Amino acid sequence: MANKIIAGNWKMNLSAKEAMDLIKGISQQEIPSDVKVMVFPSALYTGLAATFAEGIEIGVQNFSENDNGAYTGEISIAQTKSVGATIGLIGHSERRAYYKEDHATLKAKVDKAISENFDFIFCCGEPLFIREEGSELQFVQQQLDDSLFHLSAEQMMNKIIAYEPVWAIGTGKTATSEQAEDMHRNIRLWIAEKYNEQVAKSVSILYGGSCKPSNAKEIFAGPNVDGGLIGGASLNVEDFTALTHSF
Ligand code: PEP
Repeated sequence: MANKIIAGNWKMNLSAKEAMDLIKGISQQEIPSDVKVMVFPSALYTGLAATFAEGIEIGVQNFSENDNGAYTGEISIAQTKSVGATIGLIGHSERRAYYKEDHATLKAKVDKAISENFDFIFCCGEPLFIREEGSELQFVQQQLDDSLFHLSAEQMMNKIIAYEPVWAIGTGKTATSEQAEDMHRNIRLWIAEKYNEQVAKSVSILYGGSCKPSNAKEIFAGPNVDGGLIGGASLNVEDFTALTHSF
């Protein structure tokens, strides 16, 4: 069964003190017991955040596809695990756009995570011009085919995918609940076609893109929407907590 998940992507925001105040604040809130909560602070704060987090998984926004070694500025899975991270993002649109992470790199990160038994959220989503020309389904299916769907059925069980239309990230524009559900239903269908129904039902599919307490209930009502990957609204205890109560 897919999990209900609220994941906060803090991006390159917050000082160490602000980040710890936020993690402590979230830890003190009452979170529904059937909702998994995870946050992705700056990697600098992974260890600190893991120390203060209660009932919250700590993840990294990025990790290397390589083992430890001569890769200046990079962070290995082994390093992130050693300070308490249990999960990482792969293929966030900002990594794809600004750091030119291509399909092959993302596939290598998926493979590295699998080999290290490290959980991940695989992000996908179309830019505005693709949505405007009406080829968003083909575009997202290709992203999944290129970097994720090479996994075996066993490896795909219980994985997490975040559908994040690029035109909705940080823009204040949200996909309508119909647009989100339509993409999520198709993603689940492709998994069922490529693997089987059992695998399709086990994968959690999150929506991301200007999701906030005022629009989350409607979006999460979609039968194939299992939660959210949240940017802006994850930087505030009240908003983030409210999202965990929006199912
Ligand atoms: C994100 O960066 O994954 C995201 C969804 O950001 P925002 O919620 O700010 O659009």
